Amino acid sequence: MRYHNITKDDMLNGEGLRTVLWVAGCSHNCPECHNPITWDIRGGIPFDEAAKKELFDELEKDYISGVTFSGGDPLHPQNREEIGRLAGEIRRRFPEKTIWLYTGYDWEQVCELPMMRDIDVVVDGEFIVRLKDNKLHWKGSSNQRVIDVQRSLLMGQAVLYEEQ
Ligand code: SF4
Repeated sequence: MRYHNITKDDMLNGEGLRTVLWVAGCSHNCPECHNPITWDIRGGIPFDEAAKKELFDELEKDYISGVTFSGGDPLHPQNREEIGRLAGEIRRRFPEKTIWLYTGYDWEQVCELPMMRDIDVVVDGEFIVRLKDNKLHWKGSSNQRVIDVQRSLLMGQAVLYEEQ
């Protein structure tokens, strides 16, 4: 897997102060995407052991609420395996931290991925520019949903996340 950036103390991509991993690779091609530089799966730099350490060092900090996987699309077919492994490792090492994931897929297309057992919140769906609304919390267009993954898996349908 390749990535573009790890941002720290981020307040915009999920609840609390978060560490955000911006992966390379997205095939959704949403018009007016905020981050087209991340579309190329061969872009960015390899997510190597040093990058993982950088991410984990941030998660060691008490005031960091958790990690957010964004991009690009962490659920691009070529990213799924490594993101799944990483989510599992973070869940085991930092059980008190939350894991958020942004994807251009709809929840119904990805809800059966085994990695979902380790994810707390998914923000789903492509960005649709005519539905863009700057007032929306944690998402760019009104078709997207902020989904409580564990409750959704339990209920067998998408359940919206309620702010803690
Ligand atoms: S899913 Fe996100 S990163 Fe991918 S094209 Fe759409 S807005 Fe851009």
